[in-house]
Amino acid sequence: MNRREFLKTALAAAALPDLVWGNDVLDTHLHLRPDADGCFRHMQGCGVTHAVLLTRVQDEEKAAAEMALRPGVFARSVSLDPAAADAGESLRKAIRGGAVSIGELKYHLALDSPEMRRVYDIAAEMQVPVMMHIQNFPHFAGEMPYNTGYEHFDKILAAYPKTNFLGHGALFWANISSDVPTDRGYPVGPVKPGGLTDRWLSDFPNLYADMSANSGNNALSRDLEFSRGFIERHQSKLVFGSDCSCTDGHGGGVSQNNNPEARRLAGKCVARETLALSKQLSTPDVFRKMTWENGRRLFRLA
Ligand SMILES: [Zn+2]
Ligand SMILES: [Zn+2]
Repeated sequence: MNRREFLKTALAAAALPDLVWGNDVLDTHLHLRPDADGCFRHMQGCGVTHAVLLTRVQDEEKAAAEMALRPGVFARSVSLDPAAADAGESLRKAIRGGAVSIGELKYHLALDSPEMRRVYDIAAEMQVPVMMHIQNFPHFAGEMPYNTGYEHFDKILAAYPKTNFLGHGALFWANISSDVPTDRGYPVGPVKPGGLTDRWLSDFPNLYADMSANSGNNALSRDLEFSRGFIERHQSKLVFGSDCSCTDGHGGGVSQNNNPEARRLAGKCVARETLALSKQLSTPDVFRKMTWENGRRLFRLA
């Protein structure tokens, strides 16, 4: 082997390792785990190269330790109860300290409540996106709805043009269709065009869609022909995330904790399932946007 051949081989080997999906993949919805390096193990298993660690404000040090183990791989968010008295100052402090986003916010508040409005103002001021879990149908007996009032969310989108919103959760994705049943969280079957989420993604430059969890996977799986058009239309607004809690990136452990209605993904890795589905429904360019470029731009990681 001459020198040039050697270099070519060495470069190919260096580029090979982890690009199982054809490009770097950013998981923008990976909850910090109790065991150190658990997030990285999950990513290795499913071919994800970078991630935003969703971090409660009290876990900042834990996230920092996980990030220090793997330089260049992670960023972190900050989440807290927006109704807490010091919520505003805590958010600003965490963002000044390096948090790149606010989320996920999963609290029993109205989307247009004063507490959430304060968060939207801070997100605009600090130039970070805010991600909300929007759900009304309970996943277990007695569960109360989160981030209520989605049917009027266009008023908020219009009132906060400098805030970037990342929608997530069962009700956000049920509204991919214009008929939203009230007796289930994850509707199946053909999508009826004209859904609020589809329209608002077109109408408001500050609304993005988090593809994570069973909610995102279910919505994009239920009507593949519709999904192809939806992805084409919103290719710059769809942001890959997994929200997967499996242990190994192959579906080990529990992948949709405490959520019997999401049993279609039991034993599967949500990241793998949604990446494979996205690949099937898009061109390589659009796949790269959804799984890498859009998240990098929105979270200002570039
Ligand atoms: Zn959630
Ligand atoms: Zn997984």
